Amino acid sequence: MSEYDGPSHWRWRDGPIGGGPAVIVDVDGVISDGNNRQHLAQARRWDEFFAGCPDDPPLEATVALVGSLAADLTVVLLTARPWHLLSDTLGWLKMHEVRWDLLILRPPNSGGPSRAYKATEVDNLRHHGFDLLYALEDDPRNVEMYAGADVPCVYVYSGYYDR
Ligand SMILES: [Mg+2]
Repeated sequence: MSEYDGPSHWRWRDGPIGGGPAVIVDVDGVISDGNNRQHLAQARRWDEFFAGCPDDPPLEATVALVGSLAADLTVVLLTARPWHLLSDTLGWLKMHEVRWDLLILRPPNSGGPSRAYKATEVDNLRHHGFDLLYALEDDPRNVEMYAGADVPCVYVYSGYYDR
């Protein structure tokens, strides 16, 4: 592991990229449709909620949008999914042929709100040399965080945060 690899919880699809223009894409509610298990999130039944992730259908429009981005952009999937979902998430991305270069899940023993974790990763990505062009995100709290961090954010409506 060298500094070029980035933090130890980062997973590269085809090996490390040293920086350059990048787009951040959230997973749940942006490229993956977990709408049918939002009742578990509302009830804070997190183990059952996350157990359903592998079976979620893709959100075809955003998967196609990400696939159509310029080839020289690095696609960073930044999700607050817990670390134990890494292999399920990798399998899901492969099954649905999602374009991505770097996958970031919450590292083991990471606590606190999603927006604080994602803000830290924004700092990590910039430190690594990425120029963050914009983010796709469905959680209004993260949209606000990106605005505060000078990352232009495209809000994707999932309906998850209406309830
Ligand atoms: Mg989301």
